[in-house]
Amino acid sequence: MCIFCKIINKEIPASIVYEDEDVCAILDLAQVTDGHTLVMPKDHFENILDCPPVLLSKISSVTQMLSKQIVTKLNAKGVNVLTNANPVAGQTVMHFHVHIIPRYSAEDGLILKFKQNPEADIKRIENILKK
Ligand code: 5GP
Ligand code: ZN
Repeated sequence: MCIFCKIINKEIPASIVYEDEDVCAILDLAQVTDGHTLVMPKDHFENILDCPPVLLSKISSVTQMLSKQIVTKLNAKGVNVLTNANPVAGQTVMHFHVHIIPRYSAEDGLILKFKQNPEADIKRIENILKK
């Protein structure tokens, strides 16, 4: 059983900030910024790529609700919401989860950089994806 399944089953402790029949949200041990939260399905799916859409929709609703609460209660100025799918994207726990990372300033704990690729062939990619 994976570590998040054990947390969901209350076999190991965690700071659970929300749960219902399908969804559980815990504070991330790392606390990249104060209030860093992980929203996950109670059933085990590896990541967003194999999570059923109806469940994904519930995860999204809870993510929005908790993001609003975090902004209000912790006085965050914004949030980054992200999910890593597979190790190449930085996923280390293979139980689907969405990170809510509250932002207090552009210089706080999260460094997220989108590098532009001037050589990208956008038309070729568009044609592949539209097929
Ligand atoms: P990933 O890299 O898979 O997107 O994120 C996994 C996250 O889970 C990391 O940010 C890490 O700090 C967090 N994490 C790993 N193990 C535990 C744990 O046992 N308890 C809690 N609360 N968070 C964990
Ligand atoms: Zn699991």
